[in-house]
Amino acid sequence: VTEALDWARRLHGKGLASEALRVDWAAMMAFKRTFTDVMPGRIEHMLDEAGVRTIHGSARFAGPNEVTIEGDVSARVRAHRIHIAVGARPRRLDIPGEGRVVTSTDFLELPTLPRRVCFIGGGFISFEFSHVARRAGAEEVTILHRGSRPLDAFDADLVERLVTRTRALGVNVQLDACVTAVEAEGGSLRVRYDGPDGEHAVLCDLVVHGAGRAPNLDELGLGEAGIDYGPRGVHVTRALRSVSNPAVWAAGDAADTGAPALTPVSGHDARVAAENIIANADVADVAYPPVPSVVFTVPPLARVGMLESEAEASGLEYDVHFKADTGGWYSSLRVAEPCSGFKLLVEKKSGRILGAHLLGPGAEEQVNVLAMVMKAGLTAKDVKGTIFAYPSFSSDLASFV
Ligand SMILES: Cc1cc2nc3c(=O)[nH]c(=O)nc-3n(C[C@H](O)[C@H](O)[C@H](O)COP(=O)(O)OP(=O)(O)OC[C@H]3O[C@@H](n4cnc5c(N)ncnc54)[C@H](O)[C@@H]3O)c2cc1C
Repeated sequence: VTEALDWARRLHGKGLASEALRVDWAAMMAFKRTFTDVMPGRIEHMLDEAGVRTIHGSARFAGPNEVTIEGDVSARVRAHRIHIAVGARPRRLDIPGEGRVVTSTDFLELPTLPRRVCFIGGGFISFEFSHVARRAGAEEVTILHRGSRPLDAFDADLVERLVTRTRALGVNVQLDACVTAVEAEGGSLRVRYDGPDGEHAVLCDLVVHGAGRAPNLDELGLGEAGIDYGPRGVHVTRALRSVSNPAVWAAGDAADTGAPALTPVSGHDARVAAENIIANADVADVAYPPVPSVVFTVPPLARVGMLESEAEASGLEYDVHFKADTGGWYSSLRVAEPCSGFKLLVEKKSGRILGAHLLGPGAEEQVNVLAMVMKAGLTAKDVKGTIFAYPSFSSDLASFV
């Protein structure tokens, strides 16, 4: 909804005449629920039809092959094979007043949008939600990020452009801002932070956790079951089997695979783990294809493959095709979005694309095309030689190399 609003505002006076568009937060939430609320029931029904029994509750290992469940009913399940898919939760902040900080899940359920919102951390959750909050009418929106580089999994040059665009939207992005406490003050909240030039504070109505997530393993009793794990998840083999308990598999955000914590990655993992669990043998290898990831701001920022620093460390020789500003290109002009750019890293010897970084309208779709190009082992020359539908955002890909 806020994306549509931004498009409409950008095109206002350029052929779009409607005035005073605004976000109706409650209606937007109600609309969201029409497609999110039905999913759990639908999935449970599918499981039921497939002969899978669902028990609602909190699971915990009681032994290497045994799990207890506490919920509406208490249960104890013994199994030859157990799959861990508990996902992630916001990592602990360890600051006074941490209990006053709400999670991204809470934010997505807000009945009304507060006037002043502060996000702790400069990752994709804070950037996406700050864009939503600001466009939906929050008057004061702040991101406090403790390092000098927010969105550090994305290309630094394009992130810099997105930060500029985010600030222009009216989001106060503070870098090198380490949050030290969240205090209640009257009806407001005071977020204290150490900045490069001393102590500061932001007064707001809501503080949202956007400071990273950790595998949801603390309460799972993994020690009882002899399952090795670390801060990045359950230690698994390439078959997604626990390295220390052969009766256990793990997938998605809960598994330490090195892959990014994303929905399609957990789906990929699930297929691999399921194949191995059913076979009770290591028949499938997790072997990730290039995984695209997107920050769904307006405009979006996307990445697939290596960052420049990773390409450098790989020892491969590569060319950098970089244009920080493609705002003058036709695809940006026609949607009045001047914030766009790209960077492609192409191996000299093979012509393979090692990494692609895209900012601008359509980046979330362009990156999928490049993910497929990379998975198929095609080259930059193949991209250049492709006839793309014109004018589509993907047709720009031929001009990126
Ligand atoms: C705000 C936000 C935005 C995101 N946006 C994107 C996006 O745009 N694109 C994208 O690809 N990814 C996105 N992600 C990441 C994505 O949601 C996760 O990578 C994905 O959901 C991981 O799937 P999973 O199956 O591993 O875990 P989850 O989907 O987290 O599922 C784990 C489930 O296990 C349950 N559980 C936990 N512990 C126990 C227990 N002890 N007993 C029983 N049940 C338990 C949890 O309640 C949960 O229902 C986003 C994440 C967040 C928080």
